[in-house]
Amino acid sequence: MAYDFDLITLGAGSGGVAASRRAAMQGARVAIIEGGQVGGTCVLRGCVPKKLLMYAAQFGDAIRESRGYGWAVAEPRFEMAHWAATKAAETKRLEGVYRKLLDGAQVTLVEGWAKLDGPNRVKVGDRVLTAPHILLATGSAPIRDSIPGIDACATSDELLDLQALPPRAALIGGGYIAVEFASMLARLGVEVSMFYRDRLPLRGFDDMLRTAAAAELQAAGISLHPGSAPSRVQRAGEGFLLMLGDDRVSDFPWVLNATGRRPNSAGIGLESLGIQPDQAGAVPVNETLGTTAPGVHAIGDVTNRKNLTPVAIAEGRALADSLFGKVKRQVDLSDIASAVFMLPPIATVGPSEAQLTAEGRAITVFETDFRPMKQAFIGGQERTRMKLLVDTASDRVRAVHMIGADAPEIVQSLAVALRAGATKSDFDRTLAMHPTAAEEFVLMREPSRQLGA
Ligand code: NDP
Repeated sequence: MAYDFDLITLGAGSGGVAASRRAAMQGARVAIIEGGQVGGTCVLRGCVPKKLLMYAAQFGDAIRESRGYGWAVAEPRFEMAHWAATKAAETKRLEGVYRKLLDGAQVTLVEGWAKLDGPNRVKVGDRVLTAPHILLATGSAPIRDSIPGIDACATSDELLDLQALPPRAALIGGGYIAVEFASMLARLGVEVSMFYRDRLPLRGFDDMLRTAAAAELQAAGISLHPGSAPSRVQRAGEGFLLMLGDDRVSDFPWVLNATGRRPNSAGIGLESLGIQPDQAGAVPVNETLGTTAPGVHAIGDVTNRKNLTPVAIAEGRALADSLFGKVKRQVDLSDIASAVFMLPPIATVGPSEAQLTAEGRAITVFETDFRPMKQAFIGGQERTRMKLLVDTASDRVRAVHMIGADAPEIVQSLAVALRAGATKSDFDRTLAMHPTAAEEFVLMREPSRQLGA
C-alpha cells in the first residue's frame, strides 16, 4: 500500500516536534498534526513561561536584598499586565521558532485536531492521512475533576494568562506546580495559603528537601495547611469557599487547582485500534515505545511515566532513530535529574534516602546546611542544604539533593558525574572552586550517619 507519509505525529509539543524533526533528518516523510499552537505545554503554558515568572519573582528579592548591599531603591511594585504582555510576545516568538524548525526539516504541519481512524489512518477534519508509523505525542492537561467543584478554579494554564494578580490565593496540591507558584506568587505580592493532604509538600522527594521546602515557603510568608485538602470547592460570588472538614470553611477570591495532570488520551480514537488506556488515562508502552497496536508508538506525558520535557524529547529522538536510522536506541529512565523552581530552587538526581534505605543497601549520608555568604552579608535567613547519598559497599554516589540558590545549575553538572559512576573518593579528590556554594559538594568529609545493612 502507498502511504501519504512514513510517520504521522499527533501533537506538536516538545516530544512530537523532536521526534518528527529527527525522523525527517533520517529521510522519512513526516506529517505533524496540531490543533492548538505549535510548541506544546512546556513552551506555551509550562516550563518556559513559568521560569519567566520565576525570574520576575526573583527580581523582587534582588531589589530588596540590594539595599543591604548599599543600593538606595524605592519600594518595588510588580505589574502582572506588563509581564503578561511580554510573555505573550515571547511565546509567540517561540511558536514562530518551532514552526520554522518544522519547516526547515521539511516536516508537513497539518493544523487541526487528529483522530486515529483504524490501522495506519488518521483523520483531521474531513481529511484522511495514512502512514505505516503513527506517534502519539499528545501530552497531558491539568486534572479538573479531582475534587467536587474544583473545575471552576484556575489551573496553571490560566494563571500564566492573568492580567492582574489576586490579593489573596489558595493553592490546592503540594506537588511541583503548587510549590513553584506558591513561592512565586508570594514574592509578587499575593497572600498565599497552601492546602495539601500529606504532612509535607513534594511527596516522593527526599525528606531533607521536603522539610526545607516547607520552611522556605513559610519564611516567604505562605500559610501552610498540611493534611487538609478541601473535600469540596464552592463558588461564592466572585470568589470561592473551600470546605475543609470539621465544618471549617475558608473563603478566597482566587484558587489554583494544582492537583496534577492527566494524559491527553481521550477523544483521539484509541478505540479504533483497540488501545486501552490505563486507569490514569495513560497509553501503555513497551520498552521500545510501542503500544498494543502495530505501528503505533507513544512518547512523553501521554504515557505518564516520567512527565518531564527532556524525557519526551529524548524518547522522540530515540524512537525516530530506531524507526528510520541505522541504530536502534532506548532511553534509560533511571536517575533523571529534575528541579523544582521554587525560591530557593530544589534540584535532585537519584533516589531519596527513604527509597535507598528501602532497597536494603548500606548507605552513608553526607549533609551540609549553611547560610550562603550572599545572605549572611545582609542578615538574610535563606539557607542552602545539600546531601550526598553514598553506597557504603561500592563508594558510589547514588544521589545528590540540594535546595539553595543555583541548585538546578549545579545538580545538572553533578548528574553527569553520577551517570559516569563517580565515587565519593572521586568527589573528595576534586579540588574546590572557591568561593562557591557548589564547592561544598567536594568538601563534605564527615558522614552525618550510616544507614542499613
Ligand atoms: P504533582 O503530581 O506533582 O502533584 C499533584 C499534587 O496534587 C500532589 O500534592 C497531590 O497530593 C495533590 N492531589 C492530587 N489529587 C488530589 C486530590 N483529589 N485532593 C487533594 N490533593 C490532590 O502534579 P503537578 O500538578 O504539581 O504537576 C504535574 C506534573 O508536571 C508533575 O508531576 C511533573 O511531572 C510536571 N512538572 C514538572 C515541573 C518541573 O520539572 N520543574 C514543574 C511543573 C510540573 P499527594 O501528594 O497527596 O498525592
